[in-house]
Amino acid sequence: MPPMDDKRADSLVPDAIRTLLAELGEDPSRDGLLGTPDRVRRMYAELTDGYRTDPETIFNGADFEVDYDAMVVVRDIEFYSLCEHHLLPFFGKAHVGYLPQGRVIGLSKIPRVVDMYAHRLQVQERLTQQVASFLMERLEPKGVGCVIEATHLCTVMRGVRKQEATMVTSAMLGTFRRDARTRGEFLTFIGRTAER
Ligand SMILES: [Zn+2]
Repeated sequence: MPPMDDKRADSLVPDAIRTLLAELGEDPSRDGLLGTPDRVRRMYAELTDGYRTDPETIFNGADFEVDYDAMVVVRDIEFYSLCEHHLLPFFGKAHVGYLPQGRVIGLSKIPRVVDMYAHRLQVQERLTQQVASFLMERLEPKGVGCVIEATHLCTVMRGVRKQEATMVTSAMLGTFRRDARTRGEFLTFIGRTAER
């Protein structure tokens, strides 16, 4: 079991937060901060619940046999994640498309796949790749595309690299990688031009 489910986390995490508060120059025993260590523990447990999501529960009975092969696109999937370098949020929108090969999944399941990986400590490139790879393995489509646009608080809050406030990453697998027309169709669907 991952650590946050461990009963030890109930005291270890609050202890660590109290240490952090003291190191920041704060008094962890003052009124406003008394409940903070346990609140932070519960918050991180929630924001990292993707480590404990069972992928089987996402796909269980939710995929269907079909005989069409038109591209399926879900765009503007809102997500929130934590950057593993600073433990600060990065958030934005994910756009996911795939070209079915006999199987499709209920549309509401794709945001759950994004959440499963977003609710972990992440870097945006890996999040993008993991969403695409997961669908490629589970649905065995002809191809998958995933584009993520996100703002990183570790960049904008600290005032560095303002011009790169929004970062765009993409993962193209199967026909989305091989076939420029398929890739172009996907990028048009999600409102981006096929410049890459
Ligand atoms: Zn960061």
